[in-house]
Amino acid sequence: MTEERFETRAIHAGQAPDAPYGAVNVPIYQTSTYAQPAVGEPKVWDYARGGNPTREAFQQALASLEGGARAFSFGSGMGAETTLLLTLEPGDHVVLADDVYGGTYRLLTKVFRRWGLASTTVDLTDADALAAAVRPETRFVWVETPSNPLLKIIDIRAVSEIAQAAGARVVVDNTFATPALQRPLDLGADVVVHSVTKYIGGHSDLIGGAVVTSHDDLIEHLGFLTNAVGAVPGPMDCYLALRGLKTLAVRMRAHGEHASAVASYLSRHPKVRDVYYPGLASHPGHELAARQMAGYGGMVSFTVGSADEALEMARRTRVFVLAESLGAVESLIEVPGPMTHASVAGSALEVPDELVRLSVGLEHPDDLIADLERALG
Ligand code: PLP
Repeated sequence: MTEERFETRAIHAGQAPDAPYGAVNVPIYQTSTYAQPAVGEPKVWDYARGGNPTREAFQQALASLEGGARAFSFGSGMGAETTLLLTLEPGDHVVLADDVYGGTYRLLTKVFRRWGLASTTVDLTDADALAAAVRPETRFVWVETPSNPLLKIIDIRAVSEIAQAAGARVVVDNTFATPALQRPLDLGADVVVHSVTKYIGGHSDLIGGAVVTSHDDLIEHLGFLTNAVGAVPGPMDCYLALRGLKTLAVRMRAHGEHASAVASYLSRHPKVRDVYYPGLASHPGHELAARQMAGYGGMVSFTVGSADEALEMARRTRVFVLAESLGAVESLIEVPGPMTHASVAGSALEVPDELVRLSVGLEHPDDLIADLERALG
């Protein structure tokens, strides 16, 4: 039998009706522990830090959509990244893309560096720079594509070939694209991480994270660390995340259509300098994105004349809500410099002060454009 398609697996993988009642929707198993028939013989789990049926359903569905053998979910994207990095050892080294979520950079430079994990930031669109940065002790090459907030596109297959030839594994933060648009494991990467908070949840109502892989050693290690470290999600959040997965494919299609309309409007506006959207033919990563992704996503960044203009614009929109985060049904606007990327100020990852980032939502695109027109006016 051929494998069912993405949309079908999003609704059915790991989600068979429950045995006692036939509930079609996976219930929220709001329990901290499980009755054991005899000492040392739990039915499945002995305690809910180790596992929970609602979490398990979400994990199976996500693993299926990413094409991985196993997914692990966490209480936040940062919890997922921390647990993954704890599979490494003091003395190891990580190569990090030079345009990543500020929190990832902060975690490596302010938390794991003290613990003995070294890291180097590199422009991963430059194959020579990557080859020069990889050392014998490099364990992970950490990619974010499209990147946050400049929407750089990195060639996952090319990076994987170079990194793996040097004995390192490739981790892709797939938060912006989601498996609906990009499947890094199929392109040769070793591990996918997510902030589930964003498009997977999709409705600004949960914080969550996930790691997906097919490597047996990592699966075993992550299974141990999930329980030993305990950065696990609650059952209600897993329920919401699973509910988000069911509509992910249709939402990502609509996000892409709306973002494309917004990006082409902005690229014609006299007050807008540069527009960063991989769907625009002028974007340096456009052709690669067309090959690597099944759509260009819902994130658009652009620069205006000055930092003050950026702050003023973010204050003026009415439909776009001024807020951090992204990937939900409602459109959001933010100024990355003082907001989401404040933790990279003064570093190699610093972003332009006059940069504005939009998470284009599912409102009518004409209303979104009218809102931007008013705010830019
Ligand atoms: N990765 C990316 C690309 C993000 O944008 C974020 C948060 O904004 C994270 C990871 C961290 O995820 P969380 O906020 O769920 O901890």
